[in-house]
Amino acid sequence: MLLSNEKKRVIVKCAICNREIVNEERYVKCSICGALMHEDCIDREVLEDSEGNILCPYDAVLAALDWFDTIINTYHASLKVDSEKHSDIIERLKNYIKLLEEEAT
Ligand SMILES: [Zn+2]
Ligand SMILES: [Zn+2]
Repeated sequence: MLLSNEKKRVIVKCAICNREIVNEERYVKCSICGALMHEDCIDREVLEDSEGNILCPYDAVLAALDWFDTIINTYHASLKVDSEKHSDIIERLKNYIKLLEEEAT
């Protein structure tokens, strides 16, 4: 009896720490994909958009990339004028890729 109840219980995992969110823990929901996250796991200053919606890290990165995309596509010519600033940007992008490709520890 207890076992079948246990099986029916839906395990909800936090999109940040990947631990289960148990009943008494406070959680928030990504306003785009609906992923749940412990309230304690999120930094609102990082994961809140300009309208105050909470995003999961994945959707927050995508939103930032969309903005980035618009800037790059609109101003790519201006960004090439100053070669030092231009290579700064390229260097930072390379570091982000390196970080994202590193194995999770
Ligand atoms: Zn968490
Ligand atoms: Zn999301």
